Amino acid sequence: MNCSRIEPKLSEYLNEALSAREALDVEKHLAECHPCTLALTELRHTVRLVAAAPRFELSPDFMQRLQERIDAAPVPSRLGWVQNLRQLLRPRPLSLFGATAACVVAVVMFVPRLPMVQAPPQELGAAAHVAAAASQNVVLTASDPLEDIAVANLSANPAAYSEPTE
Ligand SMILES: [Zn+2]
Repeated sequence: MNCSRIEPKLSEYLNEALSAREALDVEKHLAECHPCTLALTELRHTVRLVAAAPRFELSPDFMQRLQERIDAAPVPSRLGWVQNLRQLLRPRPLSLFGATAACVVAVVMFVPRLPMVQAPPQELGAAAHVAAAASQNVVLTASDPLEDIAVANLSANPAAYSEPTE
């Protein structure tokens, strides 16, 4: 038997409420399982602590007084959700800091991006194409590390990657 089948039975084992067969299974498992033995020890300790805790007697009219207090408690209004919605939607004065921050974010978001990649010059030799591709790779990698470098090479020197046409 594994731990997940033994653990729910530990409490009954402690109370001697298991059948002889089940108790034997639990004892066999406990003999070779440290975590379950530890759990049983902790359970036994907890039961002892609870048994030793001081008890106090309730007054005979405890339940009646409890019910009276529950009945006297204010009942939440059925229109409470409308008041909550009003509270949520009420106009609030925007702080100067918040307004400034919102303006800065809006400006940063809507300013057009400057082009970071320049098109390679058309009349260049192979060495210039390689230099342009390398430069573009660096720019692309810096602007977006996930950008595919092969795409940068292709856009820097499309003639080198195009299929020969005859
Ligand atoms: Zn176990």
